[in-house]
Amino acid sequence: MFQAKLACMIPPIASRFVAGETPAELLEHARQLEARGVRTICNRLGEHYERPEPAIEDRDAYCELLTDIANAGLGACISVKPSQIGIGIDEATFRENLRVIVDRAAEHDQFVWIDMEDHPTTDVTLDAYAEHAREHEGVGVCIQANLKRTPEDLHRLADLPGKVRLVKGAYDEPAAIAHRENQQVNEAYRDCLDLMFEQFGGGIAVGSHDPAMIEHAIERHDEHGTDFEIQMLMGVREEAQVELAEKYDVWQYAPYGGKWLSYFSRRAMERKENLAFALRAVAGR
Ligand SMILES: Cc1cc2nc3c(=O)[nH]c(=O)nc-3n(C[C@H](O)[C@H](O)[C@H](O)COP(=O)(O)OP(=O)(O)OC[C@H]3O[C@@H](n4cnc5c(N)ncnc54)[C@H](O)[C@@H]3O)c2cc1C
Repeated sequence: MFQAKLACMIPPIASRFVAGETPAELLEHARQLEARGVRTICNRLGEHYERPEPAIEDRDAYCELLTDIANAGLGACISVKPSQIGIGIDEATFRENLRVIVDRAAEHDQFVWIDMEDHPTTDVTLDAYAEHAREHEGVGVCIQANLKRTPEDLHRLADLPGKVRLVKGAYDEPAAIAHRENQQVNEAYRDCLDLMFEQFGGGIAVGSHDPAMIEHAIERHDEHGTDFEIQMLMGVREEAQVELAEKYDVWQYAPYGGKWLSYFSRRAMERKENLAFALRAVAGR
């Protein structure tokens, strides 16, 4: 652990939330995490590309990473943001880049998650996911409980063989299409979990740090017996991740890469606990 931190170019203040700048640092993080019973979902930082070149660069980096994970014998997978592989350029570019990544993953029998971004991208993302999920089980998509359309989407996704990660939703969406109050979002999240445990045969991922949502999922699991996994971000409730992993399938979403500064700033500002941690690190305490 100590050696990996020394070699890492990310300053200590950010290394709680970002696994490293290079794939080697990321894989070292994944190795240490796996020894504690938690597997890694690798996300290369980058989003909102408007030109094909960076999208191709990230696509190729993911392909290399999939090979590195296979060579390292790790049980890790990847999670890709649609806007980092071209959804903001056009649908064809996004689909082509996604296919290249999914094909490489299939060669190594590995899993690809597709993150979900803001609502104008929802249909294209779900359609691309559905196309791949019909072909094989090695893909998953994220879906946001705050969107009012989500229960209907879940009905559509229930029959597909892939996995679905339910999150509360990170984007500031208009009230006409989204629940905006915390309480409404939490209710919607519980309702979506109920629907998933009733209708999905498996492939349920609970992407939340919220103990109440995780407890709800565990209750539904105990009731229905359906398999599920818990996913949390690197740097958030890490002790809970390890504790839960003693009983359940737990994955940590770990970002890496050179574009760590804006991601770190978002994490540090979103909760007072994270900001306090960052300030203590600056003060050397
Ligand atoms: C693995 C993963 C993947 C994600 N992928 C996407 C995606 O593709 N698209 C998308 O829109 N969103 C994504 N998100 C983000 C998600 O939508 C939420 O914005 C984010 O997870 C915050 O919601 P929450 O459910 O964790 O709980 P919150 O509502 O933020 O917090 C609820 C409770 O959780 C606990 N908690 C939360 N954070 C902390 C903390 N830092 N320290 C201690 N306790 C804490 C506290 O008890 C808190 O009261 C993802 C989240 C995860 C975990």
